[in-house]
Order: sequence, then structure tokens, then C-alpha cells
Amino acid sequence: MDRSAFARTMRVLERRHPFHDWSAGMTPFEILISTVLSQSTTVANERRGFAELRERLGAVTPGVLTAASEQEIAQAIWHAGLARQKAPRIHAIALDVLRRCGGSLIPTLRLPTRQAREALMSLPGVGPKTADVVLAMAADHPTFPVDTHIARIARRWNLVTKGDYESTRAALEAWTPPRKRKAWHLALIAHGRELCKAHNPRCDACPVRRDCDWYRSHGVRKRGGLGGRGRARTPGNKGLRTARGLARVATDLVRA
Ligand code: SF4
Repeated sequence: MDRSAFARTMRVLERRHPFHDWSAGMTPFEILISTVLSQSTTVANERRGFAELRERLGAVTPGVLTAASEQEIAQAIWHAGLARQKAPRIHAIALDVLRRCGGSLIPTLRLPTRQAREALMSLPGVGPKTADVVLAMAADHPTFPVDTHIARIARRWNLVTKGDYESTRAALEAWTPPRKRKAWHLALIAHGRELCKAHNPRCDACPVRRDCDWYRSHGVRKRGGLGGRGRARTPGNKGLRTARGLARVATDLVRA
């Protein structure tokens, strides 16, 4: 997929998935804890875990979480999954925010993007994806967070040759205007959940398939050619016919 096809595709997906800010009304610290809870679970379970954490402890603040025991936190977030791993991480983050940031992430988020990102990633258990989500959702920093849906779609569209986090983020940021990054990040996640699933993507119902490299190589092959509705193969398709392209698809399926 080239740059103009990417822009065209994203405009379609943005219309299909209008911007909905899930973080509206949340403090930056709550957004951070919600993002930690969202790891390796569904949105519904993360929301349930977060709601229960707030209900049981009375608030989700660094002070309250530091005062709670790891066991209390684990019991509260049980529905979000991996509670025994997430609870000590949440407790350690709260302690660090309290001690090093004076109990608030707001001063950190006022820093230039790069410094703010480094400061967030210095918190225990906070990786680049979590930091980018907090930067984008809590303070409108022009980052493009990459989750598993977005990483998978970027590979299917041949936006990246290397599948690591930073390469994918850099590729998406290079082609996305800063003011669009948050909206397109959310639109891509929604597309991954709705149609471009890890297993059996629903290409027949996909409104952007004409520009999709994966569809040209896989969906079309299954159906015996493009027929009258499609377009000619492009040089971008060659990659997926090579051993590296096939390996990438195999990785995609395994990671999912
Ligand atoms: S055509 Fe299929 S693989 Fe391509 S973006 Fe749509 S759902 Fe995903």
C-alpha cells in the first residue's frame, strides 16, 4: 500500500468508525492504570476490572492504590485477567508516581513528547505502547500507539518490513498527519476488532479491500482472480509471494 492509498483507506475507516474518546473524563493516572489493565484482555473485561477497582477502593489515585495491598488490588481487578501480575505492577506504578511525580502525571505530560515518553517509560512495567496511549489520550501528544490489531493490519498492508513496535509506530506516524493520529489509531483498532481479525478476516465485507495488499494476495487468490471489479497486481504484492512475505503471514497468525 502506498501513501495515497493509505490516506484514502484511513478516510474510509475514519468515516466508518467515528472518533469516540474512551478516556473522556478520566485523569491521566486513571488512563495509565486502565491501559495497564487492558493488556491481554478484552475491552469489556478491562472496563469491568477498572470499575471494580474504583468501586472497591473508592478512587483510582496514586495515594489510594499505594495504601491498598497488592492482594486487595488483585481481587478488585480480577475480571481484567492476569491479576497476580498486574496488581504488583499497578502498586509499583502508584508508588513511583507518588514519590517521583508528586502524585500527578500532569507535569510530566506537559513536557515535550520525547521527554514525556521517556519519563512515562521509566515507571515500572510501562512500555512504549502504554506510554504512547497515555501521551495521546491524556494530553493529545501526536503519537500513534500500536496495539496488536494495528500491528497486524500494518503487516497486512505492507506498511512495515520489520514488525517491531518502533518500526510500526514510525511508519504510521510518517504517513499520518499529527492531528489525525489519535483518531486513526482508534479507527484502526475498531477495524481490527470488527473485520480485520487475526483469524479469518472478513475481507468480503471490508470497505478498504481494494487497496489492501493482503487481500490481493490471499482473498483474490482464493476466489480465482480479481475479475472485473478489482485492480491489477502492484509491485507491493510481490513481497508476500516471497519466503519473507509468507513468513510474515505465518507470524501474524501465530501472534494472534
Ligand atoms: S481486505 Fe481483509 S485483510 Fe485487508 S484490511 Fe480488509 S479485512 Fe483486513
